Amino acid sequence: MLEPSSLLADLKNKSFHRKARRAIRKIEAFERSFADFCESDFAAKTKELKSRIGMGENLEKLLPEAFALVRAAARRLRGKSFKVFSEDWVWNMAHYRVQLQAGIALCKAYVAEVATGEGKTLIATLPAYLYALHAKGCHIATVNEYLARRDCEWMRPLYSLLGLSCSYIYAGQPPEDKRRAYAADITYGSSSEFAFDYLRDNSTTTSLAEKVQRGFFFCLVDEADSILVDEARTPLIISGQAQEEDANPYCLYSPQINQLVRMQAKLCNSALDGIFSRLSGGIEPLDSDIEEIVKAKIADPRNKKLKRILRLGAANAAVEQFQTRMAASFGEFELERLSRELYYRVDEKNNSVSLTKKGQDFLSQSDSRAFVMPDLDRERAAIASDASMSEKEKSQRRSGLLKESEKARERLHCFAQLLKAFALYERDVDYIVRGGKVEIVDPNTGRVMEGRRWSEGLHQAVEAKEGLRSGAESVTFASISIQNYFRMYRNLAGMSGTARELDDEFQQTYGMGVVEIPSNKACIRKENPDMFFLTKREKYDKIIRLAELERSRGRPVLVGTSSVEDSELLSRMLKMRRIPHQLLNAKNDAFEASLVARAGQRGQLTIATNMAGRGTDIKLGEGVNELGGLYIISAERQYSRRIDRQLMGRCARQGDRGETQFVLSFEDEILRKYADLSPFQKIIKSGKLRGTAVRHPLLDRILRRTQERIEADYSGSRKSMLKFDNPSNKQRSIVYSMRDEIISSENLGDFYKREIFEYIRDLASELLPSDAFIAPEYISELVSRLPEILRSGGFDFEKRMPTRGKLVEKISEEAFKSFESFFCDFSAQYACEAKKYAALSSLDEAWREHIGRLEDLREAMFLRSYAQRDPYCEFEKDAFESFGEFMRQFRERLFSAFSKSTFQKPCLHTGSLRSLRR
Ligand code: ADP
Ligand code: MG
Repeated sequence: MLEPSSLLADLKNKSFHRKARRAIRKIEAFERSFADFCESDFAAKTKELKSRIGMGENLEKLLPEAFALVRAAARRLRGKSFKVFSEDWVWNMAHYRVQLQAGIALCKAYVAEVATGEGKTLIATLPAYLYALHAKGCHIATVNEYLARRDCEWMRPLYSLLGLSCSYIYAGQPPEDKRRAYAADITYGSSSEFAFDYLRDNSTTTSLAEKVQRGFFFCLVDEADSILVDEARTPLIISGQAQEEDANPYCLYSPQINQLVRMQAKLCNSALDGIFSRLSGGIEPLDSDIEEIVKAKIADPRNKKLKRILRLGAANAAVEQFQTRMAASFGEFELERLSRELYYRVDEKNNSVSLTKKGQDFLSQSDSRAFVMPDLDRERAAIASDASMSEKEKSQRRSGLLKESEKARERLHCFAQLLKAFALYERDVDYIVRGGKVEIVDPNTGRVMEGRRWSEGLHQAVEAKEGLRSGAESVTFASISIQNYFRMYRNLAGMSGTARELDDEFQQTYGMGVVEIPSNKACIRKENPDMFFLTKREKYDKIIRLAELERSRGRPVLVGTSSVEDSELLSRMLKMRRIPHQLLNAKNDAFEASLVARAGQRGQLTIATNMAGRGTDIKLGEGVNELGGLYIISAERQYSRRIDRQLMGRCARQGDRGETQFVLSFEDEILRKYADLSPFQKIIKSGKLRGTAVRHPLLDRILRRTQERIEADYSGSRKSMLKFDNPSNKQRSIVYSMRDEIISSENLGDFYKREIFEYIRDLASELLPSDAFIAPEYISELVSRLPEILRSGGFDFEKRMPTRGKLVEKISEEAFKSFESFFCDFSAQYACEAKKYAALSSLDEAWREHIGRLEDLREAMFLRSYAQRDPYCEFEKDAFESFGEFMRQFRERLFSAFSKSTFQKPCLHTGSLRSLRR
């Protein structure tokens, strides 16, 4: 049963595979001719291929020969021993045909879907070799640093035999080493380190020689769905402390919100206490209890007492029923009634919090205008028609009004984000606090996402909630989205065990299609249908019984959970029953990898978050295959089938046996929050299902549709994030190339000439009338506005200039002369360094301010959208204006940097540029 879109994909796949088969025949023919190569012949051949590329031979034509050489080299290495992570490892691989096929896909800008355990590390050597022949650098991006180093060391013997060098980068590596790593033919590294290096190269360097990267020629992204899609939800940011100690508004309002949240929790807690003790004593819930529970779900869904009650299960069916009724009829009315006493309402499904009237009143106590947005249009009209004010006063009033409305907007936004931070974001679940910083925990892996920040002020709100950074607000020095970083590569390719679900997104965002590569041996995984239980408690019981049953037979069992919290809960339950197991939620990749590697041993039971240890192969211990291979139990369906498949792929690799079982409950988040279970409501609340596992095709369908909907939502929000990153992306590339011009040029003459011209042209369009002939008084006004350094020349004010354009040209010429004459007292070297320093620091400072403005604009967007305008158009317009402002400010700073007083003593001249910078 193929859907139309997959039919198309199927056709595309077929045509690819046909062509690939043809190429493979050629590869194998070449390989035979390399059979009698001695070791040094490989490097010699590489040299030859490199020179042929240099002569313009095209990559496509070279591919069969290159691939054949790589495979022949791999064959040659067989049986030899090498060190990987200081342990001996015997090379035992030569590319299978399917691996060649995958390699071909990667040279044609595809994302290759290659199942887990099929040898993607070895596959990577094929495109890496081919592109390395260009000698323009070749990056391989992995999900973490551990894998970057492992893959690099593991594949090094092959590259060396072929006469190529490979290296890896890591965070905190000394710049010289890093530069050397980038200079290698092939460079491995984690995706975020590649992007951070790019940002650092363009924000902290003062000369070209300081840059560590050398361009963006080819990048192969391993685990492409994880890096290019899942992790691409938040941009990468380099930030630091603001220079001026502006009061951080989040810290300012945090105590008030904290108080609000506490009062609301108190409202719920007293009622919940009574309910818990009654229900756990076996007493049936009253109608009023049900209402209280629903109310608590609206008021404080993360409440610990509420969670305990729901875990009891006694009231859940009635609560569901109440909520369904509420959704069906008089929803708003009921909601109003229930939340009458509340200060705010939480909507978990939409991840949003809204203040009630009561909450607003509370917050207005300290500031009566907290929720008043000035009506700009009306006030502006009032000012305009007020005859008692002078023009100057009016303009002051207008700008005052604007400031006031900005403030009001900022305040509302702060309230909203703080409420979210308090009511929806839980410490040690959604984030951890480490080293005085809030670090985001990836909901899928349970691992910290290094260097990521939530956007739109949410991060600062969470920091304020945790009492961090009470001083200055942090400012962004540089930022880029993952998407826009990887789109810079001239050639991009990806591989993953799970990619086909993302075909459209890969195509639209990165221009890459997905091809599925068959596995080397047929996959014989046994996939059991999902089991559903009424409550989580029954679900966990079943999981434990199942795991223990299989484990006691000697079979290794891997239990995947969706969060660190769940994995710990399961581990505690196992401990209570004295069932030996290993818990895998370490925050250390290397440690994690060694645990995962052990997960295939006889009788080993491993509890792990779903994607922990991604990239590490689970090899089966002796005799395990005969017992049926690795048994995988998943305690939850993830928001996407793709992530479910990722877990399933950990068993039955390379023709091994293996089995999977999903054990779910109606209380699972995905069902509770997102799915429409109305067809099952009746049977759920009848209680007939208590203790039994349900299997039903309709349930499977509901689940699948829910997952598709959530993935579509996520994809939508990624697209919108990307859209909002686009204006800054264009601006970033302009500014970074200006920066490159500054740090690379010798004397900056052309640069200053141009900037002076632009500066004067801007000023002229602001000050001069557009008349054909311009009166002398305008000209003297313009000249008097010039900064000191541009002013000393002889301007002929008497003669009328024919047009504005001519005038701008003439004044710019004089201004440039004046600028150059300023430096005649100084040594050439000093003049040059001073010019460079001024340009660089003015540009960097103005750019940082501009980035801050853009962030504010983006944050304000959600308030704007209330006004029924298209937020993106508004943002693009504002971003464009702000960029103009950035340019003006940059030039203003640039020319005022050279005032006479700061340049009187030419004694700094020995200092390097770096010491000139603060
Ligand atoms: P993936 O990244 O696709 O999950 P890995 O690169 O981690 O897979 O490789 C999985 C295992 O397969 C490794 O132990 C590797 O040695 C083995 N392997 C890969 N390719 C070959 C090959 N051509 N011949 C023999 N073993 C191979
Ligand atoms: Mg891998």
